[in-house]
Amino acid sequence: MKVFKFGGASVKDAENVKNVALVLENQSFEQCLLVVSAMGKTTNALEKIVELYFQKTSYHNEVTEIKQYHIAIAEGLFQKNHPIFDEISIFFDDMESFLRRNKSPNYNFVYDQVVSCGEMISSKIISEYLNDLQYQNDWIDARDYIKTDNTYREGAIHWDITSQKIAELDKQKCFVTQGFIGSDDNSFTVTLGREGSDYSAAIFAYCLDAVSMTIWKDVPGVMTGDPRKFENVKLLSNISYEEAIEMAYYGASVIHPKTLQPLQQKNIPFYVKSFLHPKDAGTKIGNSDINQNEESYILKDNQILLHIDTKDFSFIAEEHISEIFSYLAKYKIKVSLIQNSAISLAICIEDKYGNQNLLKQDLKSKFNIEIYENVNLFTVRNVNLENMEKFYKNKTILLEQLSKKTLQMITQS
Ligand code: ADP
Ligand code: ASP
Ligand code: MG
Repeated sequence: MKVFKFGGASVKDAENVKNVALVLENQSFEQCLLVVSAMGKTTNALEKIVELYFQKTSYHNEVTEIKQYHIAIAEGLFQKNHPIFDEISIFFDDMESFLRRNKSPNYNFVYDQVVSCGEMISSKIISEYLNDLQYQNDWIDARDYIKTDNTYREGAIHWDITSQKIAELDKQKCFVTQGFIGSDDNSFTVTLGREGSDYSAAIFAYCLDAVSMTIWKDVPGVMTGDPRKFENVKLLSNISYEEAIEMAYYGASVIHPKTLQPLQQKNIPFYVKSFLHPKDAGTKIGNSDINQNEESYILKDNQILLHIDTKDFSFIAEEHISEIFSYLAKYKIKVSLIQNSAISLAICIEDKYGNQNLLKQDLKSKFNIEIYENVNLFTVRNVNLENMEKFYKNKTILLEQLSKKTLQMITQS
Protein backbone atom coordinates (compact mmCIF):
# COMPACT_ATOMS: atom_id res chain seq x y z
CA MET A 1 0.00 0.00 0.00
CA LYS A 2 0.92 3.64 -0.41
CA VAL A 3 0.40 6.12 2.39
CA PHE A 4 -0.39 9.77 1.68
CA LYS A 5 -0.71 12.54 4.20
CA PHE A 6 -2.52 15.80 3.56
CA GLY A 7 -1.84 18.48 6.16
CA GLY A 8 -3.94 21.41 7.31
CA ALA A 9 -2.76 23.79 4.58
CA SER A 10 -3.69 21.33 1.82
CA VAL A 11 -7.33 21.16 2.97
CA LYS A 12 -7.89 24.66 4.30
CA ASP A 13 -10.85 25.49 2.01
CA ALA A 14 -13.10 23.90 -0.61
CA GLU A 15 -10.69 24.75 -3.45
CA ASN A 16 -7.88 22.96 -1.68
CA VAL A 17 -10.01 19.90 -0.90
CA LYS A 18 -10.85 19.75 -4.62
CA ASN A 19 -7.13 19.94 -5.28
CA VAL A 20 -6.63 16.79 -3.14
CA ALA A 21 -8.68 14.94 -5.73
CA LEU A 22 -6.49 16.42 -8.49
CA VAL A 23 -3.37 15.27 -6.68
CA LEU A 24 -4.84 11.77 -6.37
CA GLU A 25 -5.72 11.76 -10.07
CA ASN A 26 -1.98 11.76 -10.76
CA GLN A 27 -1.28 8.96 -8.33
CA SER A 28 -3.63 6.11 -9.29
CA PHE A 29 -6.10 5.81 -6.45
CA GLU A 30 -5.74 2.20 -5.44
CA GLN A 31 -4.35 0.37 -2.43
CA CYS A 32 -3.74 3.54 -0.52
CA LEU A 33 -4.35 5.04 2.85
CA LEU A 34 -4.88 8.77 3.23
CA VAL A 35 -4.10 10.44 6.52
CA VAL A 36 -5.63 13.89 6.86
CA SER A 37 -5.17 16.73 9.32
CA ALA A 38 -7.64 19.23 10.66
CA MET A 39 -8.59 21.87 8.10
CA GLY A 40 -6.50 25.06 8.07
CA LYS A 41 -5.99 26.47 11.54
CA THR A 42 -8.79 24.46 13.18
CA THR A 43 -6.46 22.90 15.78
CA ASN A 44 -5.47 26.34 17.07
CA ALA A 45 -9.13 27.36 17.22
CA LEU A 46 -10.01 24.21 19.18
CA GLU A 47 -7.13 24.84 21.59
CA LYS A 48 -8.69 28.25 22.26
CA ILE A 49 -12.00 26.57 23.16
CA VAL A 50 -10.28 24.37 25.73
CA GLU A 51 -8.63 27.45 27.22
CA LEU A 52 -11.96 29.30 27.46
CA TYR A 53 -13.59 26.23 29.00
CA PHE A 54 -10.99 26.07 31.76
CA GLN A 55 -11.24 29.82 32.31
CA LYS A 56 -14.97 29.18 32.79
CA THR A 57 -15.71 31.64 29.98
CA SER A 58 -18.32 31.12 27.30
CA TYR A 59 -17.00 29.26 24.26
CA HIS A 60 -20.25 28.86 22.33
CA ASN A 61 -19.51 31.58 19.76
CA GLU A 62 -16.10 30.09 19.05
CA VAL A 63 -17.62 26.63 18.50
CA THR A 64 -20.19 28.16 16.15
CA GLU A 65 -17.40 29.84 14.20
CA ILE A 66 -15.55 26.54 13.68
CA LYS A 67 -18.82 24.84 12.75
CA GLN A 68 -19.59 27.58 10.18
CA TYR A 69 -16.09 27.30 8.74
CA HIS A 70 -16.63 23.59 8.05
CA ILE A 71 -20.13 24.16 6.71
CA ALA A 72 -18.76 26.78 4.31
CA ILE A 73 -16.16 24.30 3.06
CA ALA A 74 -18.85 21.63 2.66
CA GLU A 75 -21.03 24.10 0.70
CA GLY A 76 -18.22 24.34 -1.82
CA LEU A 77 -18.06 20.56 -2.17
CA PHE A 78 -21.55 19.06 -1.83
CA GLN A 79 -25.14 19.55 -3.00
CA LYS A 80 -27.40 21.44 -0.54
CA ASN A 81 -29.27 18.37 0.70
CA HIS A 82 -26.18 16.23 1.36
CA PRO A 83 -26.24 14.38 4.72
CA ILE A 84 -22.79 15.81 5.57
CA PHE A 85 -24.43 19.08 6.71
CA ASP A 86 -26.39 17.31 9.46
CA GLU A 87 -23.30 15.32 10.36
CA ILE A 88 -21.27 18.51 10.84
CA SER A 89 -23.97 20.12 13.00
CA ILE A 90 -24.46 17.05 15.17
CA PHE A 91 -20.73 16.64 15.50
CA PHE A 92 -20.20 20.12 16.97
CA ASP A 93 -23.31 19.85 19.16
CA ASP A 94 -21.83 16.63 20.58
CA MET A 95 -18.57 18.40 21.26
CA GLU A 96 -20.34 21.12 23.26
CA SER A 97 -22.38 18.56 25.08
CA PHE A 98 -19.18 16.68 26.02
CA LEU A 99 -17.85 19.90 27.57
CA ARG A 100 -21.09 20.55 29.46
CA ARG A 101 -21.10 17.03 30.91
CA ASN A 102 -17.38 16.73 31.55
CA LYS A 103 -16.33 16.36 35.18
CA SER A 104 -12.62 15.79 34.61
CA PRO A 105 -10.36 18.59 35.85
CA ASN A 106 -7.49 17.15 33.79
CA TYR A 107 -6.64 19.82 31.22
CA ASN A 108 -4.66 17.49 28.97
CA PHE A 109 -7.44 14.89 28.93
CA VAL A 110 -10.10 17.44 28.00
CA TYR A 111 -7.73 18.98 25.45
CA ASP A 112 -7.38 15.67 23.62
CA GLN A 113 -11.11 14.93 23.56
CA VAL A 114 -11.86 18.38 22.09
CA VAL A 115 -8.85 19.15 19.89
CA SER A 116 -9.10 15.79 18.10
CA CYS A 117 -12.47 16.92 16.69
CA GLY A 118 -10.63 18.85 13.95
CA GLU A 119 -9.24 15.67 12.39
CA MET A 120 -12.48 13.74 12.93
CA ILE A 121 -14.64 16.18 10.99
CA SER A 122 -12.03 16.93 8.34
CA SER A 123 -11.59 13.21 7.54
CA LYS A 124 -15.39 12.76 7.29
CA ILE A 125 -15.74 15.61 4.81
CA ILE A 126 -12.80 14.48 2.68
CA SER A 127 -13.80 10.81 2.69
CA GLU A 128 -17.35 11.61 1.59
CA TYR A 129 -16.21 14.09 -1.01
CA LEU A 130 -13.84 11.54 -2.56
CA ASN A 131 -16.51 8.84 -2.49
CA ASP A 132 -18.88 11.20 -4.31
CA LEU A 133 -16.20 11.59 -7.00
CA GLN A 134 -15.93 7.78 -7.23
CA TYR A 135 -12.62 7.65 -5.44
CA GLN A 136 -13.98 4.72 -3.43
CA ASN A 137 -12.67 4.70 0.11
CA ASP A 138 -13.61 3.50 3.57
CA TRP A 139 -13.48 6.07 6.34
CA ILE A 140 -11.78 4.56 9.38
CA ASP A 141 -11.39 5.86 12.91
CA ALA A 142 -7.64 6.03 13.63
CA ARG A 143 -8.43 5.54 17.33
CA ASP A 144 -9.45 1.94 16.59
CA TYR A 145 -5.98 1.29 15.15
CA ILE A 146 -3.41 3.52 16.83
CA LYS A 147 -3.29 2.49 20.48
CA THR A 148 -1.33 4.53 23.01
CA ASP A 149 -0.69 4.96 26.70
CA ASN A 150 -2.70 7.63 28.49
CA THR A 151 -0.16 10.45 28.27
CA TYR A 152 -2.70 12.94 26.99
CA ARG A 153 -1.28 15.41 24.45
CA GLU A 154 1.75 13.23 23.79
CA GLY A 155 0.63 9.62 23.61
CA ALA A 156 3.30 6.93 23.36
CA ILE A 157 2.42 4.23 20.83
CA HIS A 158 1.75 0.67 21.94
CA TRP A 159 3.39 -0.82 18.88
CA ASP A 160 2.37 -4.47 19.28
CA ILE A 161 -1.34 -3.88 19.49
CA THR A 162 -1.20 -1.06 16.93
CA SER A 163 0.58 -3.34 14.44
CA GLN A 164 -1.97 -6.10 15.03
CA LYS A 165 -4.92 -3.79 14.50
CA ILE A 166 -3.52 -2.14 11.37
CA ALA A 167 -2.63 -5.55 9.91
CA GLU A 168 -6.37 -6.31 9.89
CA LEU A 169 -6.99 -3.68 7.20
CA ASP A 170 -7.75 -5.05 3.74
CA LYS A 171 -4.73 -3.99 1.71
CA GLN A 172 -6.67 -4.11 -1.54
CA LYS A 173 -8.82 -1.16 -0.51
CA CYS A 174 -8.41 2.59 -0.03
CA PHE A 175 -8.94 4.27 3.31
CA VAL A 176 -9.26 7.78 4.67
CA THR A 177 -8.32 8.33 8.29
CA GLN A 178 -7.19 10.98 10.76
CA GLY A 179 -3.70 12.10 11.63
CA PHE A 180 -2.66 13.20 15.11
CA ILE A 181 -4.88 10.86 17.14
CA GLY A 182 -5.02 7.46 18.77
CA SER A 183 -6.70 6.07 21.84
CA ASP A 184 -5.79 4.58 25.19
CA ASP A 185 -6.92 1.32 26.86
CA ASN A 186 -10.17 2.99 27.92
CA SER A 187 -10.81 4.17 24.35
CA PHE A 188 -10.33 7.80 25.29
CA THR A 189 -8.76 9.91 22.57
CA VAL A 190 -5.07 10.65 22.97
CA THR A 191 -3.27 13.08 20.66
CA LEU A 192 0.30 12.47 19.55
CA GLY A 193 1.66 16.02 19.92
CA ARG A 194 1.13 19.11 17.78
CA GLU A 195 1.89 18.62 14.09
CA GLY A 196 1.71 14.88 14.73
CA SER A 197 -0.13 13.87 11.55
CA ASP A 198 3.13 13.17 9.72
CA TYR A 199 3.93 10.76 12.53
CA SER A 200 0.49 9.08 12.24
CA ALA A 201 1.14 8.50 8.56
CA ALA A 202 4.51 6.94 9.38
CA ILE A 203 2.88 4.65 11.97
CA PHE A 204 0.39 3.42 9.35
CA ALA A 205 3.16 3.10 6.75
CA TYR A 206 5.29 1.05 9.14
CA CYS A 207 2.48 -1.28 10.18
CA LEU A 208 1.26 -1.73 6.59
CA ASP A 209 4.77 -2.33 5.24
CA ALA A 210 3.91 0.43 2.80
CA VAL A 211 5.72 0.70 -0.52
CA SER A 212 6.08 4.45 0.02
CA MET A 213 4.83 7.37 2.03
CA THR A 214 4.23 10.86 0.66
CA ILE A 215 3.39 14.00 2.61
CA TRP A 216 1.89 16.81 0.55
CA LYS A 217 3.01 20.29 1.56
CA ASP A 218 2.74 23.91 0.47
CA VAL A 219 6.47 23.92 -0.36
CA PRO A 220 8.29 22.09 -3.19
CA GLY A 221 9.83 19.64 -0.70
CA VAL A 222 12.49 19.81 2.00
CA MET A 223 14.57 22.88 1.30
CA THR A 224 17.87 24.18 2.64
CA GLY A 225 15.82 26.41 4.95
CA ASP A 226 12.25 27.43 5.66
CA PRO A 227 11.39 29.69 2.68
CA ARG A 228 9.30 31.82 5.06
CA LYS A 229 12.42 32.63 7.08
CA PHE A 230 15.39 32.41 4.72
CA GLU A 231 16.09 33.82 1.27
CA ASN A 232 17.66 31.90 -1.61
CA VAL A 233 16.87 28.45 -0.27
CA LYS A 234 17.15 25.45 -2.58
CA LEU A 235 15.21 22.24 -2.85
CA LEU A 236 16.97 19.15 -1.53
CA SER A 237 16.04 16.46 -4.04
CA ASN A 238 17.59 13.54 -2.15
CA ILE A 239 18.42 13.30 1.51
CA SER A 240 19.11 10.44 3.89
CA TYR A 241 16.84 9.43 6.75
CA GLU A 242 19.67 10.53 9.01
CA GLU A 243 19.92 14.02 7.55
CA ALA A 244 16.13 14.36 7.63
CA ILE A 245 15.83 13.25 11.26
CA GLU A 246 18.60 15.66 12.28
CA MET A 247 16.98 18.55 10.41
CA ALA A 248 13.58 17.77 11.91
CA TYR A 249 15.06 17.38 15.37
CA TYR A 250 16.77 20.77 15.17
CA GLY A 251 13.46 22.32 14.17
CA ALA A 252 12.88 22.08 10.40
CA SER A 253 9.13 21.96 10.89
CA VAL A 254 8.35 20.64 7.40
CA ILE A 255 8.57 17.11 8.89
CA HIS A 256 7.52 16.10 12.40
CA PRO A 257 10.68 14.71 14.04
CA LYS A 258 9.07 11.42 15.10
CA THR A 259 8.16 10.58 11.49
CA LEU A 260 11.53 9.32 10.36
CA GLN A 261 12.24 6.46 12.75
CA PRO A 262 9.40 4.09 11.72
CA LEU A 263 10.14 4.70 8.03
CA GLN A 264 13.87 4.16 8.43
CA GLN A 265 13.26 0.93 10.37
CA LYS A 266 11.53 -0.60 7.37
CA ASN A 267 13.41 1.31 4.74
CA ILE A 268 10.19 2.82 3.36
CA PRO A 269 10.84 5.48 0.68
CA PHE A 270 9.55 8.80 1.96
CA TYR A 271 8.59 11.70 -0.32
CA VAL A 272 7.85 15.30 0.57
CA LYS A 273 6.01 16.91 -2.33
CA SER A 274 4.09 20.01 -3.25
CA PHE A 275 0.32 19.68 -3.39
CA LEU A 276 0.37 22.67 -5.76
CA HIS A 277 2.74 20.98 -8.23
CA PRO A 278 2.03 17.30 -7.66
CA LYS A 279 3.89 16.19 -10.77
CA ASP A 280 7.18 17.64 -9.50
CA ALA A 281 9.60 15.21 -7.92
CA GLY A 282 9.90 16.97 -4.54
CA THR A 283 12.29 15.46 -2.00
CA LYS A 284 13.04 11.77 -1.71
CA ILE A 285 14.25 10.59 1.68
CA GLY A 286 15.88 7.19 1.93
CA ASN A 287 19.15 5.43 2.64
CA SER A 288 22.35 7.29 3.38
CA ASP A 289 24.03 6.71 0.02
CA ILE A 290 21.77 9.41 -1.39
CA ASN A 291 22.86 12.27 0.81
CA GLN A 292 23.19 15.75 -0.65
CA ASN A 293 25.10 17.25 2.28
CA GLU A 294 24.04 20.79 1.37
CA GLU A 295 24.43 23.50 3.96
CA SER A 296 21.01 24.05 5.49
CA TYR A 297 19.57 26.52 8.01
CA ILE A 298 17.05 26.08 10.79
CA LEU A 299 15.70 28.79 13.05
CA LYS A 300 13.72 27.80 16.10
CA ASP A 301 12.19 30.67 18.02
CA ASN A 302 10.57 30.93 21.42
CA GLN A 303 13.34 29.02 23.21
CA ILE A 304 14.51 29.58 26.78
CA LEU A 305 18.16 29.55 27.81
CA LEU A 306 18.92 28.57 31.39
CA HIS A 307 22.31 28.93 33.05
CA ILE A 308 22.32 26.67 36.07
CA ASP A 309 25.14 27.04 38.65
CA THR A 310 25.75 25.23 41.89
CA LYS A 311 25.10 27.48 44.91
CA ASP A 312 28.41 26.64 46.66
CA PHE A 313 30.90 26.83 43.78
CA SER A 314 31.12 23.02 43.68
CA PHE A 315 31.37 21.18 40.36
CA ILE A 316 28.25 20.47 38.34
CA ALA A 317 28.53 16.72 38.83
CA GLU A 318 26.67 13.72 37.44
CA GLU A 319 24.13 13.71 40.26
CA HIS A 320 23.26 17.39 39.61
CA ILE A 321 22.80 16.74 35.93
CA SER A 322 20.69 13.69 36.64
CA GLU A 323 18.52 15.72 39.03
CA ILE A 324 18.10 18.57 36.53
CA PHE A 325 17.09 16.12 33.79
CA SER A 326 14.60 14.39 36.06
CA TYR A 327 12.80 17.76 36.45
CA LEU A 328 12.84 18.27 32.69
CA ALA A 329 11.31 14.82 32.14
CA LYS A 330 8.72 15.43 34.86
CA TYR A 331 7.54 18.65 33.22
CA LYS A 332 7.84 17.34 29.62
CA ILE A 333 10.22 20.14 28.73
CA LYS A 334 12.31 19.42 25.65
CA VAL A 335 16.02 20.18 25.62
CA SER A 336 17.37 21.51 22.36
CA LEU A 337 20.98 22.17 23.37
CA ILE A 338 23.29 21.47 26.33
CA GLN A 339 26.69 22.86 27.30
CA ASN A 340 28.53 22.42 30.56
CA SER A 341 31.55 23.84 32.34
CA ALA A 342 33.02 23.24 35.79
CA ILE A 343 30.34 24.85 37.88
CA SER A 344 27.66 25.62 35.34
CA LEU A 345 25.25 23.88 32.98
CA ALA A 346 23.62 25.79 30.14
CA ILE A 347 20.50 24.28 28.60
CA CYS A 348 18.28 25.60 25.88
CA ILE A 349 14.73 24.38 26.36
CA GLU A 350 11.33 24.51 24.73
CA ASP A 351 8.28 24.61 26.97
CA LYS A 352 5.46 23.18 24.86
CA TYR A 353 3.08 22.55 27.74
CA GLY A 354 3.51 25.71 29.83
CA ASN A 355 5.41 24.09 32.73
CA GLN A 356 8.45 26.37 32.87
CA ASN A 357 7.46 28.09 36.12
CA LEU A 358 7.27 24.76 37.92
CA LEU A 359 10.68 23.82 36.56
CA LYS A 360 12.18 27.16 37.58
CA GLN A 361 10.79 26.76 41.11
CA ASP A 362 12.33 23.31 41.52
CA LEU A 363 15.67 24.45 40.13
CA LYS A 364 15.82 27.64 42.20
CA SER A 365 15.56 25.66 45.43
CA LYS A 366 18.80 23.85 44.57
CA PHE A 367 20.78 26.00 42.14
CA ASN A 368 21.45 29.57 41.08
CA ILE A 369 19.74 30.11 37.76
CA GLU A 370 19.89 32.80 35.13
CA ILE A 371 17.10 32.86 32.57
CA TYR A 372 16.98 34.27 29.04
CA GLU A 373 13.42 34.12 27.71
CA ASN A 374 12.33 34.11 24.09
CA VAL A 375 15.70 33.42 22.50
CA ASN A 376 16.33 31.84 19.10
CA LEU A 377 18.21 28.68 18.32
CA PHE A 378 19.90 28.98 14.95
CA THR A 379 21.35 25.77 13.50
CA VAL A 380 23.46 25.32 10.39
CA ARG A 381 23.72 21.70 9.18
CA ASN A 382 26.66 20.62 7.01
CA VAL A 383 28.29 23.92 7.83
CA ASN A 384 31.10 25.10 5.55
CA LEU A 385 33.87 25.77 8.06
CA GLU A 386 35.69 28.07 5.65
CA ASN A 387 32.83 30.45 5.28
CA MET A 388 31.31 30.90 8.71
CA GLU A 389 31.85 34.63 9.45
CA LYS A 390 28.57 35.54 7.81
CA PHE A 391 26.65 33.73 10.54
CA TYR A 392 28.14 35.93 13.25
CA LYS A 393 27.14 39.28 11.73
CA ASN A 394 24.51 41.43 13.46
CA LYS A 395 23.73 38.91 16.16
CA THR A 396 23.87 38.94 19.93
CA ILE A 397 25.16 35.45 20.57
CA LEU A 398 24.49 34.05 24.03
CA LEU A 399 26.03 30.66 23.41
CA GLU A 400 27.47 28.73 20.50
CA GLN A 401 28.49 25.19 19.74
CA LEU A 402 30.32 23.71 16.77
CA SER A 403 30.53 20.04 15.98
CA LYS A 404 31.85 18.32 12.85
CA LYS A 405 28.74 18.99 10.81
CA THR A 406 26.66 21.43 12.81
CA LEU A 407 26.98 25.00 14.04
CA GLN A 408 24.44 26.11 16.64
CA MET A 409 23.94 29.55 18.13
CA ILE A 410 21.57 30.85 20.72
CA THR A 411 20.77 34.43 19.90
CA GLN A 412 18.70 37.15 21.47
CA SER A 413 15.52 37.85 19.48
P1 ADP B 1 1.21 20.72 7.08
O1 ADP B 1 0.24 21.41 6.18
O2 ADP B 1 1.48 19.32 6.68
O3 ADP B 1 0.88 20.88 8.53
P2 ADP B 1 3.43 22.36 7.77
O4 ADP B 1 2.90 23.76 7.72
O5 ADP B 1 3.58 21.75 9.12
O6 ADP B 1 2.59 21.44 6.82
O7 ADP B 1 4.84 22.29 7.02
C1 ADP B 1 5.09 23.03 5.87
C2 ADP B 1 5.86 24.29 6.23
O8 ADP B 1 7.12 23.93 6.76
C3 ADP B 1 6.22 25.17 5.07
O9 ADP B 1 5.17 26.06 4.75
C4 ADP B 1 7.47 25.90 5.56
O10 ADP B 1 7.18 27.20 6.02
C5 ADP B 1 7.94 25.07 6.74
N1 ADP B 1 9.36 24.66 6.67
C6 ADP B 1 10.21 24.67 7.73
N2 ADP B 1 11.41 24.24 7.39
C7 ADP B 1 11.37 23.91 6.07
C8 ADP B 1 12.31 23.39 5.14
N3 ADP B 1 13.56 23.10 5.48
N4 ADP B 1 11.88 23.16 3.87
C9 ADP B 1 10.63 23.42 3.50
N5 ADP B 1 9.68 23.93 4.33
C10 ADP B 1 10.04 24.19 5.60
N1 ASP C 1 -3.92 19.23 13.40
C1 ASP C 1 -2.77 18.94 14.24
C2 ASP C 1 -1.97 20.22 14.46
O1 ASP C 1 -2.26 21.24 13.84
C3 ASP C 1 -1.91 17.85 13.70
C4 ASP C 1 -1.25 18.14 12.38
O2 ASP C 1 -1.73 18.98 11.62
O3 ASP C 1 -0.24 17.52 12.08
O4 ASP C 1 -1.09 20.22 15.28
MG1 MG D 1 1.27 21.11 10.31
